[in-house]
Amino acid sequence: MKLVLATHNQHKVAEVAAILESAVEGLELLGYDGPEPVEDGTSYLENALIKARAAYEHTGIASIADDSGIAVEILGGSPGIFSARWAGGRDNAQNRQLLLRQLSDVAEPNRGAAFVCTIAMVGPDGEASFTGIWPGRVAPDEQGEHGFGYDPIFIPEGFEVTAAELEPEVKNSMSHRALALEQLASYLSAIAH
Ligand code: IMP
Repeated sequence: MKLVLATHNQHKVAEVAAILESAVEGLELLGYDGPEPVEDGTSYLENALIKARAAYEHTGIASIADDSGIAVEILGGSPGIFSARWAGGRDNAQNRQLLLRQLSDVAEPNRGAAFVCTIAMVGPDGEASFTGIWPGRVAPDEQGEHGFGYDPIFIPEGFEVTAAELEPEVKNSMSHRALALEQLASYLSAIAH
C-alpha cells in the first residue's frame, strides 16, 4: 500500500516513515513535491484536510497531512493553529519568547498547555482523521537542546523537565504526533486486511 505524506519537509517524511512503515506491514510512504495549498482553515483538522486533499488531487494516491501546535489554557487555546507564526515570522525562538512574556504574570497551576496534532487522510475511500493530545504546562524559562519549536518551554505531564530535555526516542514514544500516528497505524492495518 502506497501513501503520500503531504509535506515538503524531508525530516518529517523520514520521521513519519520510520514510525508508520514499521507499524503497518507492506506500507510505502512517498514524499510530495507538488503545489502547497494556502492553509487558511480555522482548525487543525481543516488545515490538515486542505493539505491532504491537495496532495490527493495532485497525485491520485491516498495522502496524509498533519497540522499541529501548542494550546495554552489561559490563552483560550492560542497559539493553536497559529503556533508556527505566533511572533509574526517563522522564528521558533521569537515564538517561544513571546509566549513566555505573555505568561510572565501567570503562576502555577494556571500554566496548563497541550501539544495537539491532527492527521488527515484523504483517498479513494474517503476522508479520515486522527488527533493526539500531549498535556503539560509552560515552563518558566527555556531548557534543553533537543526537539524543535516550543519543546524547550513545554514540560509534559508527569515530568519535571522540558520536552527538549527528553531524549528524542522518549518524546517520540509519547508525543501528540506519536499518539495520532498510532491511531493512523491501527486504521491502516485494519483497512489493509
Ligand atoms: P506544523 O504543523 O509542522 O506546521 O507545526 C506547527 C507549529 O507548532 C510548529 O512550528 C511548532 O512551533 C509547533 N509544534 C508542533 N509540534 C511541536 C512539537 O512536537 N514540539 C514543539 N513545537 C511543536
